[in-house]
Amino acid sequence: MTPSGREFIAPGAVLGVLGGGQLGRMFAQSAQAAGYEVVVLEPQAGAPAAQLTTRHVASAYDDVDGLHQMARTARAVTIEFENVPAAALQWLERHVRLAPHAPAVAVCQDRAQEKALFEHLGVPCAPHAVVHDAASCAQAATRELFPGILKTARMGYDGKGQVTVHEASGLEAAWRALGGVACVLERRLDLDFELSVVLARGADGHMVHFEPQRNVHRDGILFSSTVAPGVIPEELAGQAVQAARGVAEGLDYVGVLCVEFFVTRDGRLVANEMAPRPHNSGHHTLDSCDASQFELQWRCLVGAPLPQPRRHSAALMLNLLGELWFDEQGAQREPDWAGVLALPGAHLHLYGKHEPRAGRKMGHLSFTAASLAEVEAAARAACARLGLPSL
Ligand code: ADP
Ligand code: MG
Repeated sequence: MTPSGREFIAPGAVLGVLGGGQLGRMFAQSAQAAGYEVVVLEPQAGAPAAQLTTRHVASAYDDVDGLHQMARTARAVTIEFENVPAAALQWLERHVRLAPHAPAVAVCQDRAQEKALFEHLGVPCAPHAVVHDAASCAQAATRELFPGILKTARMGYDGKGQVTVHEASGLEAAWRALGGVACVLERRLDLDFELSVVLARGADGHMVHFEPQRNVHRDGILFSSTVAPGVIPEELAGQAVQAARGVAEGLDYVGVLCVEFFVTRDGRLVANEMAPRPHNSGHHTLDSCDASQFELQWRCLVGAPLPQPRRHSAALMLNLLGELWFDEQGAQREPDWAGVLALPGAHLHLYGKHEPRAGRKMGHLSFTAASLAEVEAAARAACARLGLPSL
């Protein structure tokens, strides 16, 4: 077993990933392309990443035997899912190289800790309060946090575990409706738009980043990400990159990190949350850049050099959610892939999920071209062919 070290792990070695969803699948595809073998720990048989790997540890994330098997099989382990129990990560870290480190993941698992870190580092975030009992609800109710969004501190994703609270008098009931777990209440900000920064930091502290992408969410789920000159004012983009780099440094982070930001109507940059792994908003890098976020993930893990990625195309990514597999009557159908693939610069990525469900991320579709106007035109045409609401 290798202790957390910095020596280069050469192709041919086995790399481990905790979690078998689409992020693990795209990590595996990229690492396999460079000659690594991948072992995935994922409870579900046939999960997107498990379909592609010859080695699958089918156990729960905190199963001792499963973790032992990972530590024995893999030279280094990463995550595609941040809600792996902290104790499991701590155990793994003692037995095999793990990137990102367990303490950094622990911060990203908890919105309250994330916000505390942002504040500690001087990165602006939304006015907020942590609520965990009736007394803290009463205390938060006296503050100017309404209308607010109450979010479970842990385990939320794609807008799940969130509820809008219009007035102070509704806070305690809303908190109870979310299960009475630790929550963060934050003021609902008047947003101009959203953006995110994906960066990678090696064990030696060297950092590279992708330029920020502009993100559109619908119903709390990412709808599109766009990257092209002029999409984000340069000054804001620079501030976001600087803040994200500061967060990575503050966590002594190793691996790929995404920080999501809001830009308010009055032009302020506000940190929202972060993910200790490649991010949905960075999927376009598979097609728009000379190294994708998944390549940077395994490069960090194996201790390979981290060249600054170069974006060679404008790009627009659309998420493909389960809704697309149903017609207006609710009958299942196959989306018009041939029609979409006929569009210039189309790159289709499907995750091998067999059961479409509303809100389930089934795949994504990226468009690349020389200009923003071209990717937007192709994406608009795709929306029409797929029956997606337009950009
Ligand atoms: P998730 O973990 O589900 O991605 P987020 O906190 O990122 O949770 O919230 C999802 C989306 O909801 C955001 O991308 C944004 O569109 C909207 N949102 C969240 N918090 C706020 C806020 N304080 N003000 C305005 N919009 C918000
Ligand atoms: Mg988010």
